[in-house]
Amino acid sequence: MAKPKMREPIESGCPDGFQYMHPTMRRNFGMWAYHEDPQPGVLLHVAKNGDKVWTVKAGTQRILDVFTLRKLCDIGDEFADGFIRFTIRSNIEYSVDSEAKMQPLVDALKDAGFAVGGTRNSVASISHTQGWLHCDIPGTDASGVVKSMMDELYDEFTNWNMPNRVHITTSCCQINCGGQGDIAINVQHTKAPKIDHSLVGNVCERPSVVARCPVAAIRPAMVDGKPSLEVDEKKCICCGACYPPCPPMQINDAEFTQLAIWIGGNHSNARGKPTFQRLVAAGIPNNPPRWPEATAVVKKILECYKEGARDWERINEWVERIGWPRFFEVTGMPFTKYHIDNWRGARANLNSSTHIRF
Ligand code: SF4
Ligand code: SF4
Repeated sequence: MAKPKMREPIESGCPDGFQYMHPTMRRNFGMWAYHEDPQPGVLLHVAKNGDKVWTVKAGTQRILDVFTLRKLCDIGDEFADGFIRFTIRSNIEYSVDSEAKMQPLVDALKDAGFAVGGTRNSVASISHTQGWLHCDIPGTDASGVVKSMMDELYDEFTNWNMPNRVHITTSCCQINCGGQGDIAINVQHTKAPKIDHSLVGNVCERPSVVARCPVAAIRPAMVDGKPSLEVDEKKCICCGACYPPCPPMQINDAEFTQLAIWIGGNHSNARGKPTFQRLVAAGIPNNPPRWPEATAVVKKILECYKEGARDWERINEWVERIGWPRFFEVTGMPFTKYHIDNWRGARANLNSSTHIRF
């Protein structure tokens, strides 16, 4: 008997980006001679054969309603050549291959209320994790933070005011995506999870939850005759890693889930090694819908960086040059015992290998 025809696998990865590229860009892929920055929000790439592409960048809050998206696409059809892409920092980018089309495109975006910028020595759009809309474990929102903070940093996005480029990131839980940038705003849980014992037996795979804890603070337990879990609060470092596989281990809390700000993280590039971020402020209220306290700290850091850094110094280079004591002096932020990383448990307990331990 003939074998039944197998169903084709469904490809769920991202589609091939080349089909969406501007033809001039596609033709010259890997053949660029140099690039320039004609004005904030505009890049000019010149190919070895003389072809030129102008890229115009505008900020969005990433989670877009359909009307805004249509408006952005209409601008692309009318003023650009019908090609758009979104960057990882939720900016929309249009490409055109003649200088005459560039300024009308910039003007159309500005007239429609979009911020054109985010290139060279500006504050780039805040990188955005999923937040309440898509993810099941956040302790705070993401689009809301991006929108409300970028409203305050509008001039820094649309101008070249900074000594060098500034990347700001958010992370809406304490363990997963986001949280690596010149300035990183990260969730910080400050209390051990509270367990809803009536649900654990029905919802959670207890061995996986026990294995998830990086400091072995979770044990299986029987509570009211039902299988459940218990947490050794002296060991718990409030990381929140047990909450995704076991939602009854509720750790999010309006008061005790707070924000911390870390600075100086940078990926390696052609000029330097990667640098790791350091904690500069903790215990900041997670205060939707506008997060005024966290925004004030970010603005203070940016103000001092703008004032004190030399041209083209990134935030980490500026702090390394002036020294951390001076950083706390100029920003006026308190330096406390919690800034000193004296936790020795990592040597014995932190699961830093690729092996799962039970
Ligand atoms: S940072 Fe955490 S909560 Fe936010 S989207 Fe990523 S995994 Fe989800
Ligand atoms: S919050 Fe982190 S350290 Fe505390 S029990 Fe859960 S996984 Fe363990």
